[in-house]
Amino acid sequence: MRLARASRTDEAGDAARQLYERIGTFLFDQRLEPSPANFAFAWHLLHDPDGALAKAVGHMTEGGVRLTQRDIEALGCEPPANAAKAREKVDGLVAKTQMQVEGFQDMVQAMRAETAGFGRDLAASADAIRRSGDGPTGVALEEVSRITGAMLERVHRAESQLESATREASELRSALEEARDNARRDALTELPNRRAFEEAFSAQQASGARLCIAVCDVDHFKSVNDRFGHSVGDRVLRTIAQALSEVCVGHLVARHGGEEFAILFSGIGIAKARDIMEHARSMVASKRYRLRESDLPIGEVTFSAGLTRVHIGESLADSFARADSKLYEAKHAGRNRIIGG
Ligand code: GH3
Ligand code: MG
Ligand code: MG
Repeated sequence: MRLARASRTDEAGDAARQLYERIGTFLFDQRLEPSPANFAFAWHLLHDPDGALAKAVGHMTEGGVRLTQRDIEALGCEPPANAAKAREKVDGLVAKTQMQVEGFQDMVQAMRAETAGFGRDLAASADAIRRSGDGPTGVALEEVSRITGAMLERVHRAESQLESATREASELRSALEEARDNARRDALTELPNRRAFEEAFSAQQASGARLCIAVCDVDHFKSVNDRFGHSVGDRVLRTIAQALSEVCVGHLVARHGGEEFAILFSGIGIAKARDIMEHARSMVASKRYRLRESDLPIGEVTFSAGLTRVHIGESLADSFARADSKLYEAKHAGRNRIIGG
C-alpha cells in the first residue's frame, strides 16, 4: 500500500519535472527571457497541449518560426482574441453569402415557375381562341391582355428584386475582400503579415523564381520602449517598415512579428539582395530619430539581419531557419550588420 502510494507520488513528481523541463526547453528554444510572465505563458501552453492557446501557438510557430516577446504579449495566456474576432467576421460574411446564394436560387426558381405558368396560360388562351373557330373575340383578347399584364408586373418586381440582390452581392464582395486583406496585413505598419509572407513564398516557390530570404530584427529594441515608451517604439517600427519598403521596392517586405521583418527577394541573386539589405541597414542606422513632442534625440536605431538563398523546392521552414541562424550570428557579432550572401 505504502509502496503503491510512493510510486504514485514518484509518477506525479516525474510528470511535474517533465513539465518543468519542457517549459525551460521551450523558453530557451524560443530565445525568450525566463521572466515570470514568460514562465506563466509557457505553463499555460504546455500544461494543455491540445488547448486553443497551444493550437494558436502551433500555427504561429509552424516551420520552426520563433515566437517574439510581442507575440507572447499579444497572445497572453488565452487564444488570440483578434484572430478569433476576425474569424467570426469572415464566418459571418460566409454565412451571409450562402444565404444570398440560396436567395438567388429561390428567385430564379420562382421566376422559372412563373414563366412556365405564363406560357401555359397563354397557350390555353390561344387554344380556346382556335377552338372557337371565329377568331379572337373581345373576351379572349381581354384574357390574353390580363395574363400578359400580370406577367409584366411580375417581371418588373423580379427586376427590382434582382437589382437590390446584385447591389447586396457587390457590397458583400467588397466586405469579403476587405476581410481577406485585413487578415494578411499588419495593422501597425500596414505591411503584409506573416501569413501573407508564407503565401507569397509558396506561390513564388511554385513558379520556380530565384528567391532569397532576409530576416531582420531591430537591435536592443526593448530599450527604446523602456526609455521612451511603447508608442514611441511603435513609431520607430513604422519608420523602419517604411524604410525597408522603400529600399526593397519590388520585393515583399513583411512584418513577421514583434520587431522582426522578413523580406522575400524574387528574381535576383544573393549578391544583389545583399546590396539592397546593406542599403536598408545604413539608411535605418543613419536616420536621426527624435521625439516628436520635444525633438529630443532617441539615439541610433539599428537592425541586424540574416540573409540566405532559397534552394529550388526548399521549404519555407528550412530556408527561414537558415536565415534566422545567420541573424543570430549577426547579433552575436555585434549587431547592426547583415550576415549571409
Ligand atoms: P536584440 O538586439 O537582442 O534583438 O534585443 P531586443 O531588445 O530587440 O530584443 P527582445 O526580444 O529582448 O525585445 C524585443 C522587444 O520588442 C520587446 C517587445 O516589447 C518589443 N516589441 C515587439 N513588438 C512591438 C510593438 O509592436 N511595439 C512596440 N512598441 N514594441 C514591440
Ligand atoms: Mg526579436
Ligand atoms: Mg530585437
